[in-house]
Amino acid sequence: MNGELEFVTTADAKAAVAGREREILDALGVPRPNGKTHICCPYAGHTDKHPSWRWDEKKCMAFCMCSKHDIFAVIQEIAGVDFAGAKVRIAEILRRPDLIRREGCTLLGYAERKRLPVDFLLGLGVRETIGKFGKPQLDIPYRNASGETIAVRHRIALSGKKHTLSEKNARQHLYGLDRLAEARAAGYVVVVDGESDAQTLWHARRPAVGLPGATGWNATRDAAALAELMVFVVVEPDEAGAKLAQRGRALANRPAGAPGATGRRQGSIRAVAALQCRPYRL
Ligand SMILES: [Zn+2]
Repeated sequence: MNGELEFVTTADAKAAVAGREREILDALGVPRPNGKTHICCPYAGHTDKHPSWRWDEKKCMAFCMCSKHDIFAVIQEIAGVDFAGAKVRIAEILRRPDLIRREGCTLLGYAERKRLPVDFLLGLGVRETIGKFGKPQLDIPYRNASGETIAVRHRIALSGKKHTLSEKNARQHLYGLDRLAEARAAGYVVVVDGESDAQTLWHARRPAVGLPGATGWNATRDAAALAELMVFVVVEPDEAGAKLAQRGRALANRPAGAPGATGRRQGSIRAVAALQCRPYRL
C-alpha cells in the first residue's frame, strides 16, 4: 500500500456484495451448515457449544444468540477490521480492485513514487491543491508551444485506475508542447502514455511528449505537432499499450500531416517506431 489510504465507498461495496454474501462467508472460512440450519458461532468472542449461528439468505443477516449482523458486521467480527476495512475486504474477495480508491495525491508522495525531485516538478508548474472531495491532488498544466497553460489535468491518486482526470469537456492536448523545441533540436521525440512518463524522460534530458491517456492519440492533431520528427512510441505491456501501438501505427501510415488552417500541408512524420516495454518493478 505504500502508506496510501485505500478505501471503497459504501455505495460501491453494497452494490458489489448484494447477492454474493455467501462468497464472502466462504472466503472468510465460515463453514456451510451442511443440511443443518445452524453452525457454531464463528466469532472469537462467543464460545458456542451448541450451534446457534446462521446466515439468513433472505434477510441477508447473520443471527446468533450473541448478535444480529449484516455482512459488513460479520466481516468486521471475523476479520478483525473496522467498517472501512470490511468494504476493502469485499472488493478484494470479490476481485473488484476497480472499486478500491486511494486517498488523494500529494506532491511529496508523487515525487517519491516517481523518483523525481520536487523542485523539478514545481519547475514544470505542477502544484498540490485541494480537490473537490477535500483531498490533496496535483494540478498538472498543459502548455502550448509559447508556454501558455491551455489545460490542466488533475492527478487525484498515486495509483489505480483513473488516477488522472481531465476537466469536464476540456479539449485534449499533448503534454509538453512547450518542450518540442528540444525534440526538434534532437530530431526525435519519445511518445509516452501520461504525464509522469514524459516528466521522467525530461528529467533524464530526453525529448518527450505525453498523451492524455493511451486513447489520447489524435492523428490529425499529433501529426502536425510532431512533423519532421522521428517518433518513438513507448508501448507498455498492457491493454492501453496495445491500443497506443495500434494508433501509433495508424499515424505512421499517414503520408503527411493534416492540412493546416491555411490549407498548407504540414511536414510529415519521418518514422514511427514502437518501443516495447517489459513489465518492470523497482
Ligand atoms: Zn454467536
